[in-house]
Amino acid sequence: AKSAGRNTVRFFDASLKEQESMRVQLARDLEQALAANELHLVYQPISDTGSLEIRGFEALLRWKHPLLGEIPPDRFIPIAESAGLIDGIGAWVAEQAMAAAALWPEDIALSLNLSPIQFRRPGLAAQLLRIAQESNLAFARLEFEVTESATLLGFHREEVLLALRSLQQAGARIVMDDFGTGHSSLSNLKDFTFDKLKIDRSFVGVMCDHAPSASIVRATIGLGKSLGLTIVAEGVEDHAQLAQLREWGCDQVQGFLVGRPEDVHGFAPDQAWSCVR
Ligand code: C2E
Ligand code: CA
Ligand code: CA
Ligand code: CA
Repeated sequence: AKSAGRNTVRFFDASLKEQESMRVQLARDLEQALAANELHLVYQPISDTGSLEIRGFEALLRWKHPLLGEIPPDRFIPIAESAGLIDGIGAWVAEQAMAAAALWPEDIALSLNLSPIQFRRPGLAAQLLRIAQESNLAFARLEFEVTESATLLGFHREEVLLALRSLQQAGARIVMDDFGTGHSSLSNLKDFTFDKLKIDRSFVGVMCDHAPSASIVRATIGLGKSLGLTIVAEGVEDHAQLAQLREWGCDQVQGFLVGRPEDVHGFAPDQAWSCVR
């Protein structure tokens, strides 16, 4: 039993080592992918709940690895964060997406995800302002999505709030992403004046068959409204969910029912922007 235990430990070590070397390899590949322009962005519509007219698009990063194929951002963003690549990737995303959005109709917003790690860089807000200026994109068309973890990183919480404030004062909207999945949602709402609140799809996806989730979604809409925030529900996949969100007064919806993340390079400015089905 003793030697089996030792073997188990050794096996566990080996697999941890494998995981670590895989991570190191992926970090190296990711750095190259960024330099070689192998990353690309897709855009998912965010629509008015009532009319389903498109109000904006969220930029979502994609990486097609030459050998391993499509690697999901949930997998490679954490690697980028720990390997010190997220600042470069974040700047690349902002440049690409803002250049694209500058060609869209003026009433269509662009949402960008910001990693908590990016806030460690002191000049983040100034950098985003500069990129918008160089892209000829009005800052008022921008929305920055931050997860609760961004404001949770205790030691630099003040700097995060300051950077968010600068972005907001420059005209952008600040969105609390994945609301409900973090650890201090409510104190974050108390300490910073967000503009929008995005209800996580883990609640929205099951709300029609899971009463507690339905209560949470409904109460979150009420809470957000009473704070004067715009409420977005993400992960809307069927008509029952949409009908329920309409009834509860959710402002905007995002999800496969309304539109999948796609290339929008081909969109002409005069194209119909509504996607009512
Ligand atoms: P997120 O910001 O919460 O993005 C929403 C995710 O939900 C996206 O996954 C989107 O494709 C997916 N989604 C949207 N509608 C539906 C639906 O109806 N059903 C289901 N099942 N899924 C839906 P994606 O593109 O794989 O991105 C995953 C996460 O990776 C994002 O979560 C975000 O945290 C991160 N991410 C993506 N792009 C960037 C980026 O440019 N910068 C940073 N920092 N993070 C990014
Ligand atoms: Ca997001
Ligand atoms: Ca989200
Ligand atoms: Ca998420």
